[in-house]
Amino acid sequence: MTAEDLARSLEGWANQLVTRFGHPAYLVGSALEKGLEARDVDVAVILPDEEFWGRYGSHWGHERMTPDWPPESLLYAADMGKLAAYAAKEYKVNVDLKVEPACLVTIRHHGKPRLRLDKVDVPEVPLYARFECSCPWCQEILEARK
Ligand SMILES: [Zn+2]
Repeated sequence: MTAEDLARSLEGWANQLVTRFGHPAYLVGSALEKGLEARDVDVAVILPDEEFWGRYGSHWGHERMTPDWPPESLLYAADMGKLAAYAAKEYKVNVDLKVEPACLVTIRHHGKPRLRLDKVDVPEVPLYARFECSCPWCQEILEARK
């Protein structure tokens, strides 16, 4: 199955992601070249920074998850697991879903190819031309690159 076939088969699910998050969903990573041969099918939803932090707080992925994380950060893990499990069940695709703020996508994935999956009429979330984010996540990545 090519990436295009895979994208077509995930369209319904991607449309649901847009309904939930309000922004487009993309096929990213090795599945773009390998289609279903890829080990994981990476799907990304990019949110404007403020929407991301408002929804999931600033803890997610920053440290190892513990029960004393704030509820909005625990919600992130629950959401991703639930939504990916649904794709696995309904579409028989082993999806790794990542919802990320535009700032983090800019610093990590700028210029990398992505294929839009949904057919919903919502605009793309713009990435940044330059990188100058002060959120803890981006600062950690920038620090590690020094
Ligand atoms: Zn950031």
